[in-house]
Amino acid sequence: MGDEKVKEEALQILGLFQALPRLVVFDLDYTLWPFYCECRSKREMPSLYPHARGILYALKEKNIDLAIASRSPAPDIAKTFLDKLELKSMFVAQEIFSSWTHKTEHFQRIHRRTGLPYESMLFFDDEDRNIEAVSKMGVTSILVGDGVTLGALRQGLTNFTGSSSSSSEKRKRK
Ligand SMILES: [Mg+2]
Repeated sequence: MGDEKVKEEALQILGLFQALPRLVVFDLDYTLWPFYCECRSKREMPSLYPHARGILYALKEKNIDLAIASRSPAPDIAKTFLDKLELKSMFVAQEIFSSWTHKTEHFQRIHRRTGLPYESMLFFDDEDRNIEAVSKMGVTSILVGDGVTLGALRQGLTNFTGSSSSSSEKRKRK
């Protein structure tokens, strides 16, 4: 499926939901692309998972902000690849640094930079421990198996809708 077709399908999926996230945050390695940056050279031309670009374009078209949260120990390679893939300008925040504290600090920085509440964010990552730590902050977090896909997008939006309606229920009850 080409990028345009994926984008079209992603837009259809987005159209099914009333409550959309304000910001979608992506991990890089094994979420947007199928490799670890530290195992590659800057001189190479990287490629994304097949659905990644179409999904990014669809979110952008819906005026949903995009950000990166990566614990890659090779941020220079990651940034070079984002540039080569012509994706650099798509993201309002790019937090790429290695850390022992999962991705808590990455999200604190994204929150400070954007001013958006954690509850308005949706996050995709391929590592359990990142998902666990970031969901505790209030971010709807989705574990991806083989990179971000249209199926993962649908799952993410379903979970986001569920958690935003339950938090508005909570507010109503107060
Ligand atoms: Mg990863």
